[in-house]
Amino acid sequence: MRQTDHTAIVLRNAPYKDNDRMLTLLSPTKGRVDALARGCRKPRSPLLNASELFALGDFDFYERGGRMTITSASLIETFYPLRADFDRLAVGTYLLGLCEASAQPGQNCQELFMLLLHTLSRLTFSAQEWKPLLAGFLLHYAAIDGVKPRLNHCITCGKRLAEEEPVYFDLNEGGLSCHGCRQPGQTAVAAAQAKWMRMALRSGASSWVNTPDCYAPYTLLRGFVETRLDRSIRAAAMLPKD
Ligand SMILES: [Zn+2]
Repeated sequence: MRQTDHTAIVLRNAPYKDNDRMLTLLSPTKGRVDALARGCRKPRSPLLNASELFALGDFDFYERGGRMTITSASLIETFYPLRADFDRLAVGTYLLGLCEASAQPGQNCQELFMLLLHTLSRLTFSAQEWKPLLAGFLLHYAAIDGVKPRLNHCITCGKRLAEEEPVYFDLNEGGLSCHGCRQPGQTAVAAAQAKWMRMALRSGASSWVNTPDCYAPYTLLRGFVETRLDRSIRAAAMLPKD
């Protein structure tokens, strides 16, 4: 994809007045951008499709008094097939909510933008299971936010964890504990899951293809990520259960 200074993804849209929408966009170079899409709800508006959730496009803005208005948009991708699968749509919407919760205005969000773009593309256009996609997204999302989970050494005694030994995830500490240091409230993680998380953090989504669902502890990682947010993600309620 050709990325420019104007490229962004629509994370949220809300009706405004009769025909407008307020959009929240994620820009790789400008971070979170809140902008008005004037007239976009009129059937023949050139901004109609570009103001939908998930829309990836090049957006031009006009700023006045600290308020941004979109002057034109050229649509690159709609991720339209996501709408055909309720579970995948729920996961996609949840990813948008997570990005909205972490991106700040004026911040460089290149890594987060690429993570979102790649995950949405796989969710929409590949047959890859959504559980490992979501689990991998959550691991990298935490790492980008500066809270990379500690998976190689015990969070308490610091010893290196062997591949097959029993380990326990601590949501508050954000890492694994060895059997000797385990505390109440920590979640037992299967050796295969610990191995998968280490691999998924090291490598990109292309290596997660064909991961059996049970290896990717996405519910655990959701808990880890969501306890660190200052708000709840509305789409979380739509997410399919285990
Ligand atoms: Zn230990």
